[in-house]
Amino acid sequence: MNNKPHSKETKAKMSELAKARSTSFKKGYVPWNKGMKCSWVTKTKKGIPLKEETKKKLSKTMKGRTSPRLGVKLSLEQRQNFSMAQTKEKFFNGFKSTKNHQLRTSEKWVSWRKQVYERDDYTCQQCDVKGIELHPHHIIRVKDCIKDDNLNLVYDVNNGVTLCKPCHQLKHKK
Ligand SMILES: [Zn+2]
Repeated sequence: MNNKPHSKETKAKMSELAKARSTSFKKGYVPWNKGMKCSWVTKTKKGIPLKEETKKKLSKTMKGRTSPRLGVKLSLEQRQNFSMAQTKEKFFNGFKSTKNHQLRTSEKWVSWRKQVYERDDYTCQQCDVKGIELHPHHIIRVKDCIKDDNLNLVYDVNNGVTLCKPCHQLKHKK
């Protein structure tokens, strides 16, 4: 250690700084920019036209500004996630949607559904209703089967239950 030990003065300064930091968001704190001239902001807000000189200065300042994310390379997925976080919209997830769609439209799916219905005698296993629109319900969700890479479970008759449409909807609302 070649560093000099902190002098008393430095120590005092440091503790002062620490104090200021710890109280910086408390009531009575004076903002760092208090009293600073920020005329163009106020003027723009008030609708007062800016002087040509101010405008020139401003455009110069703005030109130098770059987004902190500029030049950061993101994958498509990352970009979708970021946009999603900002817009709260659901994005089409190429992989999951395709996989799910593929599974649900395959011959295997059709025969799995038939086996489940036959085992349950085409009766809703929740409310015992027959002769109504039926839905095959996965006990372990398809989503989870895909996630765990256990596609055999998707077509496992033991992982299926026959439900009527309203009961199926209720199951997924839970
Ligand atoms: Zn039912």
